[in-house]
Amino acid sequence: MTGGGSGIGRAATLIFARSGMDVVIADIDEVKARGVAEEAAQIGAGALALRVDVSDEESVRSAMQQTEVRFGRLDVLVNSAGVDFHKELADIPVEDWRRVMDINVTGTFLCMKHAKRLMLLNKYGRMICLGSSSGIYGMGWPAYSAAKAAINGLALSAARELALQGITVNVVAPGPTETPLSLDLWANNPGRRQRLESSVPVGRVAKPEEIGAAIAYLASEEAGFVTGSILVIDGGLTSLMRQQT
Ligand code: NAD
Repeated sequence: MTGGGSGIGRAATLIFARSGMDVVIADIDEVKARGVAEEAAQIGAGALALRVDVSDEESVRSAMQQTEVRFGRLDVLVNSAGVDFHKELADIPVEDWRRVMDINVTGTFLCMKHAKRLMLLNKYGRMICLGSSSGIYGMGWPAYSAAKAAINGLALSAARELALQGITVNVVAPGPTETPLSLDLWANNPGRRQRLESSVPVGRVAKPEEIGAAIAYLASEEAGFVTGSILVIDGGLTSLMRQQT
């Protein structure tokens, strides 16, 4: 679980742990990763916390090796590590554009690249990437929306490549979800949360556990016939945009 130290990644990790899975919490924030590993261990799961920078290939390679050493296999990869960047087009410094691409897109690619080798050993795997409704209708900021759209292309292409190898690849595309990533943004923009909630057909933002539950389904053995899908979980926001365009 990349980005497992916080928000959606943390929620999904704890759902996995409750279902009896062992979990690896791979996060650039080691303190948060350790905290979630402790929570998972209290539930009874085997839990390994790793400090990983998903945008750094050596860091990802090392995390996969440590996972193999500890658990002997990798059945599920969830790419939840991600960052947003709240600036309009003309105000985005190119270094920040690259950082958003590096973490969201290159990070997802590197984890899938190195997970593939481990999953092929058992001809079994579930890869789940965190997209966003922003990557479908451009409802977020430009760098973030572009990164999330790229993740869709990467995942759908990999789904076809891996379909006959027992490995499924899917995208979960949440709408606004109450996590530290959004709480930060809402804290700096008074009224934004209320505006968002009034634009979402169900009238509220998501809880991280609601996104985690969808991730858990796609991670299950029962989801073996689901691949190359983008599962939008946004309280009807994307559907509303479709009706309006
Ligand atoms: P979050 O900030 O709560 O958690 C993200 C985690 O990623 C953090 O623990 C952070 O330390 C980690 N991380 C950041 N850079 C990293 C790196 N280079 N290497 C490893 N870990 C790194 O955010 P969240 O809201 O839980 O978001 C999880 C995913 O869901 C992201 O990909 C985000 O874009 C996506 N998403 C979130 C929302 C939302 O409204 N919260 C909506 C749509 C999509």
